Amino acid sequence: LVERAVDHATERGDEVARSELRLVDAMRRIPQALILYDRSGAVAFANDAAAPYLAGRHSEALVEEAIAEMAASVASGAKRAPEAVDLFGPPRRSIVVSATALVDDPVSDGRSAVAGQGTDVLVVVEDVTDRRRLEDVRRDFVANISHELKTPVGALSLLAETLLSEDDPAVTRRLTARLLSEAERVGRTIDDLLELSQIEAGGVARREEVPVHLFVAEAVDRVRPAAEQQQIAIDVEQPGRDLVVVGDRRQLVSATYNLLDNAVKYSDAGASVVVRARSVAGSVDVCVQDHGVGIPTRDLERVFERFYRVDRARSRETGGTGLGLAIVRHVAANHAGEVTLESVEGEGSTFTLRLPAAAGGPSDSHEVG
Ligand code: ADP
Repeated sequence: LVERAVDHATERGDEVARSELRLVDAMRRIPQALILYDRSGAVAFANDAAAPYLAGRHSEALVEEAIAEMAASVASGAKRAPEAVDLFGPPRRSIVVSATALVDDPVSDGRSAVAGQGTDVLVVVEDVTDRRRLEDVRRDFVANISHELKTPVGALSLLAETLLSEDDPAVTRRLTARLLSEAERVGRTIDDLLELSQIEAGGVARREEVPVHLFVAEAVDRVRPAAEQQQIAIDVEQPGRDLVVVGDRRQLVSATYNLLDNAVKYSDAGASVVVRARSVAGSVDVCVQDHGVGIPTRDLERVFERFYRVDRARSRETGGTGLGLAIVRHVAANHAGEVTLESVEGEGSTFTLRLPAAAGGPSDSHEVG
């Protein structure tokens, strides 16, 4: 069809032919596969994305069958809803095939064709694998949130019910304290959810030069009360004042705070936590090291997922929301950085937040202690 349009354009040399050519070229490049069948059932046009579905490949056989079957039935006047075809791969893929009859007179609703004679049919094939995956993630997330909130909310109503019929002041005080702690837990989960969704949706709203020693100090200040309560010393190896990153200060504080908060939560009383920053070949590494419970090798990849905990009971005991490391990972991604983790079960963990250094900062690899 492209060749035909080119011939036309050169023969007629007019505007109409040129715009036809542009249209056909645009259709060739769109990411969905387009196949146009003429009334005899032969392929009149197929764009680039359609090539895999017309090549007789074994891996696409199911899609090819669906295309042929739908095109034939639509050509003979049937109305068909789009059809999903799942290919089990690997990799698994979800493909949606839809077919529309193209009739000269749109008012006739596709029935102008003489029965059995057929019409032109346009088939559109779309790979919806990524969209499906996102939908699945979203669905799981909503299910997880509901589950996470259901437990403490259930505990709240149970505690309130018990309180109603309790007269002993000592018991009442104990139950009220538990009620308060469950309510705070729901509050923290909601705060973390809001923060995560803001960080996810907004990317980096503010881009300013943030000296590393400032955001580290702010995060340390925030975690200090919890650390003191646990008698954990936070040892800050003062980063050089020339270490600067470009980004959102609030997010950087939040990421560093979450790493420090975990280091404190997953250490035993009396232990120490070290935070240091150094410049490494164009990047700044902020490391938070603890000598706590550590993380088993099999869980190293998964701890960054929302609501994933190695030890549910411990996370619950320490008031964890299961969202801290998901926040850290998003902040790192928003700043074109990454977060990595080294850990030995029973010995401790080191989390490293690597961020690109602001231009003009120290470029050679040296440690600033
Ligand atoms: P939580 O609120 O449960 O701490 P996070 O997302 O911050 O959630 O962390 C996920 C899980 O990773 C935690 O439940 C814990 O099992 C593990 N974890 C995170 N940081 C540490 C650490 N410093 N030491 C040991 N385990 C950790």
